[in-house]
Formats: sequence, C-alpha cells, structure tokens
Amino acid sequence: MERKSEITKEKYLQDSFGRVHNYLRLSITDRCNLRCSYCMPTDPVFMPVKNILTIEEIDFLCSVFISMGVNKIRLTGGEALARKEFPEIANRVARHNIPLFLTTNGTLIHKHLDLIADTFTSVNISLDTLRKERFASINQRNAFQQTLKNIRLAISNRIALKINMVVIRDSNHDEIIDFVNLTRKYPVEIRFIEFMPFRDNQWNLYRNYSYQEILDLIRSNYKVEKLEKENNATADMFRVKDAPGRFGIIATLTHPFCNTCNRIRVTADGKIKNCLFGLKEYDLRPAMHDEKKLKETIQMAIEEKQRQHGGNSLINQMGDSSCRSFNRTMAAIGG
Ligand code: SAM
Repeated sequence: MERKSEITKEKYLQDSFGRVHNYLRLSITDRCNLRCSYCMPTDPVFMPVKNILTIEEIDFLCSVFISMGVNKIRLTGGEALARKEFPEIANRVARHNIPLFLTTNGTLIHKHLDLIADTFTSVNISLDTLRKERFASINQRNAFQQTLKNIRLAISNRIALKINMVVIRDSNHDEIIDFVNLTRKYPVEIRFIEFMPFRDNQWNLYRNYSYQEILDLIRSNYKVEKLEKENNATADMFRVKDAPGRFGIIATLTHPFCNTCNRIRVTADGKIKNCLFGLKEYDLRPAMHDEKKLKETIQMAIEEKQRQHGGNSLINQMGDSSCRSFNRTMAAIGG
C-alpha cells in the first residue's frame, strides 16, 4: 500500500520525457542588495510587494509540492537573506522536515548564523572574484570584505557550503586558477558556472567561457581527475590530484544536463518556471486557495516541460535579444 502511494506521488511530477521533478527552487524575493551585472540591471524594477508570496502562501505551496513528491527545497532570490521575514520563512519551511538548502551572496550571513547552521543542509555562496576592486565592478557594491568574512564565519560554524563563481570572459576568467588554488589548499568546493543569457544581463556569445575552455585551462596547469557525478547533479566534478578540495563545472549552454533535470522553479510572485529558459509561466496565485486546482496547475507545468532549454534549440537562439527580452532577469526568476 505504501509502495503504491510512493509511485503515485512520483507520477505527479513526472514529465513527458520521464524526468521526475522532486527538487523545488523557491524564490522568496526578487530584491537583492548587490547589483551583479550578469544577473540584473543597475536600476532594476522590482515586483510590487503585494505580488510577493506571503509566508502562509510559501508554507502552503511547500506542503502541496511535498505531497506531490518534492523531497528537497532550496530558498533563493534575489537575495533570500534580504527579505525581512527570512527567519520566519526558513523556520516554517523547515517544519516540513525535508532537506532545506539556501543560495545566497553571503553578505548577510552574519545576521542569521545560528538559524542557517541549524536549518540548512548546505549553502551555496556566490563569489565571482577574489579581488576587492573587481568585486565592486562586477557586483557593484562594496561588499567584498563582508562576503569573505562571512564565508570564513560559515566555515568556522560548520555550515556545509559550496562557492559559485560565474565565469565571464575578459571579466574574471583570469581568476579560474586562483579559485582552483583554493581547492588545493582547503577542503572547499568551488563551482564554475557558465555565463547564461537572461534579460538585461550583458550576455553575448563571446563572453561565454565554455566548459571545455575552463577544463583545458585548469588541465594546462594541473593534473586533474574526474570524480563521480551524483544523480541529478548539475556540476561535473573534478579534483586537482591530491588536493583536499574539489571543483565543479556547471555549463548549461555548452554541456547541458537537461536530460537529468529534476528542478521546478517558483518565482517570488508565485509563477512556475519549468525551465530557466522557458518563457511560459504557470501562475499559482489564482489556485492558492484550491488545492486541487493548484495541483493541476503544477502538473500542467511539469507535463508541458520541453526536452531541453525551454524549447530553444541553439545557444544563439537562447541568447538572441528578442528571446531574452521576453524572459525575466535571473534575479526575478530565482537562481
Ligand atoms: N543572491 C543569491 C546569490 O547571489 O547567490 C541568489 C540568487 S542568484 C540569481 C543565484 C545564482 O545564479 C548565483 O550563483 C548567481 O551567480 C547565478 N547567476 C545569476 N545570473 C547568472 C547568469 N547570467 N549566468 C550564470 N549564473 C548566474
């Protein structure tokens, strides 16, 4: 009997290509205290506050997704820690008793240290450069020291973390080896993320520093071994021989992992995006007080998921400005 209910749950979130979606990435705000140029414009127009999911709605959505088979939730944004109600949201979602993850720029970790240590299984922290001046130019705020301080604080408080660096040609690709050197010194995990095209983010194909280029560069400096990839992981993982840490490459464009995608994204204003690059959105708000309708909307979003890249077949097509202008900024999707 129990087995039957498990199968039924899985089927709820299975798309037409057989992929089971059990990982919810929930954006709790589109606001952010940084202005990373690859993520959002300098003067973003934020969603009206009245459109943002309330704590109760977030809690209810989580319970419905979990009842349909979700077994992992990540809170993100915008900057999740910048939402005033972050502690209450984290506590409420944690009560559902499934592993909870967080993606953050790290600048506000010191304000929620105990909560993060107690509540989250692991935290992804963005850090695109190890140089103070460059941080101010890429991330457009003077938060370099605070970010580094908070990464150290998180490590000393035994918070499991991964560091994400978005690699952009002629902006920070010359620091790839510096980041790899961190993995040779410390037991850290660094993930190099390929620069992806979204609305208002200054992407062009030239600025994409590809999976192969990243790997070739590291291999030209060090002997590298490939590690086993975990189920549904986005990153291919590697280690410099005998290093205590490891590094990964997440290359949505040149090394896509769509065939093992298990992610559902919900934006801060309650829309499902079944793919970062999919333009169709599924509004959960009108169904918020009708569980049956809510489940139908969620199922429809999963059923209609395209095989790859939201139905865009070429990098050029995804990067095409007319296509991107219909998509959201990454901050408004929830990374
Ligand atoms: N504020 C948090 C942070 O900085 O990590 C969470 C939101 S951010 C949108 C989530 C992730 O998306 C970060 O790792 C960020 O570096 C990544 N990201 C944003 N824009 C991107 C882009 N154009 N290409 C690749 N990754 C991007």
